Amino acid sequence: MKILVINTGSSSIKYVLYEMANNNVLANGSIERIGENRSNYKYSISSKDFEKEFKKSLTIKDHKEGLRNIIEVITDPGNNLLKDPNEIEAIGHRVVHGGEFYSGAVLITENVKSVIKRLIPLAPLHNPSNLEGIEVAEHFFPSAKQVAVFDTAFHQTMPSKSYRYPIPNYLYENEQVRAYGMHGSSHSFVTKEALKLLDKEEKDTAIITIHLGNGCSMSAVKGGKCIDTSMGLSPLAGLMMGTRSGDIDPSIPFFLGTKMGMSFQEIDTLLNKESGLKGIAGSNDMRDVLEKRDIGDKKASLAIDMYVQRIKKYIGAYIAEMNALDALVFTAGIGENSSVIRELVCSELNFLGIEIDSSLNEMKIKSNHKINSNESKVQVWVIPTNEELEIALQTKKLIGN
Ligand code: ADP
Repeated sequence: MKILVINTGSSSIKYVLYEMANNNVLANGSIERIGENRSNYKYSISSKDFEKEFKKSLTIKDHKEGLRNIIEVITDPGNNLLKDPNEIEAIGHRVVHGGEFYSGAVLITENVKSVIKRLIPLAPLHNPSNLEGIEVAEHFFPSAKQVAVFDTAFHQTMPSKSYRYPIPNYLYENEQVRAYGMHGSSHSFVTKEALKLLDKEEKDTAIITIHLGNGCSMSAVKGGKCIDTSMGLSPLAGLMMGTRSGDIDPSIPFFLGTKMGMSFQEIDTLLNKESGLKGIAGSNDMRDVLEKRDIGDKKASLAIDMYVQRIKKYIGAYIAEMNALDALVFTAGIGENSSVIRELVCSELNFLGIEIDSSLNEMKIKSNHKINSNESKVQVWVIPTNEELEIALQTKKLIGN
């Protein structure tokens, strides 16, 4: 069975074509800067006896043209992947916001599309382009099943005491203002991997998943179900991130508006695009920040201290919420690659039973690996995330049913 996973952003399309018999990636690629003069177009193909890398700059005016380009690549006889698009049994779409409507993958119908549309106010940057991706895919793949996999779905198991904000009821009841959480496919993927690695029944497990990419979020997962997560109504909440502030005093936007005359739009940009590592250290890329810190840059050093301290705070909070912890799981760009950040996060947590083994932590392994010391009560794992595979697996499971 072949499944195509599509992740459509406002000016980009990323895709992966899978052979689900062995979860093999047949082709993957991306088109960025759609609608600009020069779009960046790249893909790689790896099928039996055939490898190809392709990178080009060309003009792609909209998502429809982008997807047409992708179809041309995957059906090109020279690429030896598909004879025609009908060989793709299903398309798994990443959709950012499913609100309270979806706690799992769903077959896309007109009704599902209208719900995704209705949720645009909660994800104004993402749901419109996700919807566009669905409509373009329906046009080009009329016989494939179209499936939506929501970033928010994994967190729908949170109890109301976790997802409600202490603000007047009508804001939840009429406007659905509550915490939804994001990065659900990643937290779900690494949780499932961790559950396979723990020698315990799922119902008795307590796991904290730490996704540290450009965006950063953490989840408390008890008995295999998310009971709390650090992102909220939007991805701005929680940890310090590449360019997002994470949790700040909610009165800061009033201060920025009244004292500094900033507009809502300017405050939004400041907190989402100019803050986090970038706001403190001048770069949103953790590699740059670590390099600057190593040559004595005080701002970079402060940024790292702040970044690590916030992760520690959530670890403490989630242990208290779960009254247990079997495993701490690091994932995504920083979580998977930065032994320095993992070491700093886990240092001086021995009171909580968390201790890592420095030499295991330093090992550069691209697959699941355990980095805790023998004395540690809690297992500490590095588990590479795979959001696209998670979307493909959920799509397969749904259409299988
Ligand atoms: P995205 O959220 O865009 O998918 P990624 O999961 O790719 O992001 O993570 C990007 C982050 O990972 C960047 O801050 C980058 O600096 C960081 N990163 C990647 N490799 C390393 C490394 N070896 N050491 C430290 N940080 C790294």
